[in-house]
Amino acid sequence: MTFQELGLKPEVLSAITNLGFETPMPVQQETIPFIFERQEDLVVLAQTGTGKTAAFGLPILNLIDCSKKAVQALVLAPTRELCIQISNDLTKFAKNLTGLRVVPIYGGESIVKQLKQLDEQPQVLVATPGRLLDMLRRKKVRLNGISFLVLDEADEMLNMGFLEDIETILQATPESRRTMLFSATMPAEIARIAKNYMNVSHEITIGTRNAGSENVSHVYYVVQAKQRYLALKRIVDMNPDIYGIVFCRTRQETKDIAEKLLIDGYNADALHGDLSQVQRDSVMSKFRLRGLQLLVATDVAARGLDVNDLTHVINYNLPDDAEVYTHRSGRTGRANKKGVSISIIHVRERHRIRTLENLLKKEFKQVSVPDGMAVCKKQLFHLIDKMENVQINEEIESFITEIEKKLAYLEKEEMLKRFVSLEFNRFLEYYKNAPDLNIPEKEEKKTKKNPEKKNILGNVKRGKKVRFRLNIGTKQNFNVNRLLAFINDIICDRSVKIGSIEIIAKASFFDVYAEQAEQVFRAFEQFAPNGIRLEIAGKSNQKKQNQVNNEKSISRKKSSERKVNPDKPWRRRR
Ligand code: AMP
Repeated sequence: MTFQELGLKPEVLSAITNLGFETPMPVQQETIPFIFERQEDLVVLAQTGTGKTAAFGLPILNLIDCSKKAVQALVLAPTRELCIQISNDLTKFAKNLTGLRVVPIYGGESIVKQLKQLDEQPQVLVATPGRLLDMLRRKKVRLNGISFLVLDEADEMLNMGFLEDIETILQATPESRRTMLFSATMPAEIARIAKNYMNVSHEITIGTRNAGSENVSHVYYVVQAKQRYLALKRIVDMNPDIYGIVFCRTRQETKDIAEKLLIDGYNADALHGDLSQVQRDSVMSKFRLRGLQLLVATDVAARGLDVNDLTHVINYNLPDDAEVYTHRSGRTGRANKKGVSISIIHVRERHRIRTLENLLKKEFKQVSVPDGMAVCKKQLFHLIDKMENVQINEEIESFITEIEKKLAYLEKEEMLKRFVSLEFNRFLEYYKNAPDLNIPEKEEKKTKKNPEKKNILGNVKRGKKVRFRLNIGTKQNFNVNRLLAFINDIICDRSVKIGSIEIIAKASFFDVYAEQAEQVFRAFEQFAPNGIRLEIAGKSNQKKQNQVNNEKSISRKKSSERKVNPDKPWRRRR
């Protein structure tokens, strides 16, 4: 299929030919004919980097009446960076369409300046929800004449808390508009927006739903939690041309890791919420221009960053949500390039990898952390490759005779050794006594499920609660917070939801969904301190239950913290 066959105007065709677009990308092949042929709304599940700006931009620009000075298309995007990028892309596509104007409006910049751009009504607005709402309230923008509304990176907009703003904006647009929703993932809220505000009979999915890009391979390293940083360094050293983002969970972790990397001589910097807009812009632009090889970032801070040629994404810690993982990994493998999403995990997080595999329908490959010698070899040959490909400056010529004279006493082999050592000694020195960071099989086995102890639950159905009994209570100074922290520490998986909690003198009870109960039980079996026992508090435990009931009646008088939030929704553990 060619762009000509898609029925684009010659002005649009010439502009994209200039940009080097030869054939439509898959999302364009599916979306463009749909927008031209059908007067319907559309949901497209596709990652950034798959060519979706052109997928909605080209047909919309084609259908806009350039002679009419009124906003006809609105594109909503989550961040100012994406807003600027979309606006720039659309402006390039519309370069030869006389009279067509695209204006971006976004927060973090003078509203007065942006309002001026609206004096002469543009046909296309690209906006972040907050700033657009501000302008709507000031009655500076009118959306009652728009024909096209695009919600780009809809899931990100919801993650950033724009749901209400989007709903208000949707209500300010005419019902006759055509709405196109683009999202990398399909959480329930997106489905709800589509149901309430759109008339969708068609959904286009590029790649597998929620699966992320086909161009990304997923690998993981299993190390002791305290060896994470060493493993990160080894991974980076093993990939000398790495250009990637290291995702951390908190601002503090982001700062710490970036600082350590800097001290250790890596070309890295941090991007987190404590930076001012100016600092953020400076770090992002340095990274975009490849002045930095590694950007250590939190998910929130990295949202505005759009870089298409990342080689790696590193999950220094796995995110709690599979969707966040999809977003992180979707930052590599863009624009038809290959990418690798790396996770550094510890033994107890293996099941989280299995969960991701199931959700994404992708295989995650475990790889061993390379030993010191392997890293040294990789670095050495990287240096040799660089030497082979280096551009020789002609000015060198004039020094060669003198250099030859000076080094005449050295054999070729000796000379090579010395040149290589110049660059390479620091690696050899560092990795001389480098420990093996992989967890010995013996230790791994200790933590694996005991195959003989299957089916502790009997036939409890998914979605039902299982009540556990733990042999510690208020006598051991346990209250709800301490108990939650204790459970947290043992299970080590924030996706496990803990329901109603009850603490009595010598025991505690808590609910877990059946599908997570086995995991909780096994975690206690393997990791609880000596003397701590977890059992199912159920019919089969009648004797214990009686004993518990006795304790209950005693503790009712003693403890005010016995029963906690039984009606509250299930909590997600922090
Ligand atoms: P997007 O997903 O819109 O951010 O696009 C990702 C990258 O692919 C951008 O750099 C686009 O300029 C580029 N691109 C989009 N469509 C095509 C195409 N048909 N051929 C070549 N490059 C494209």
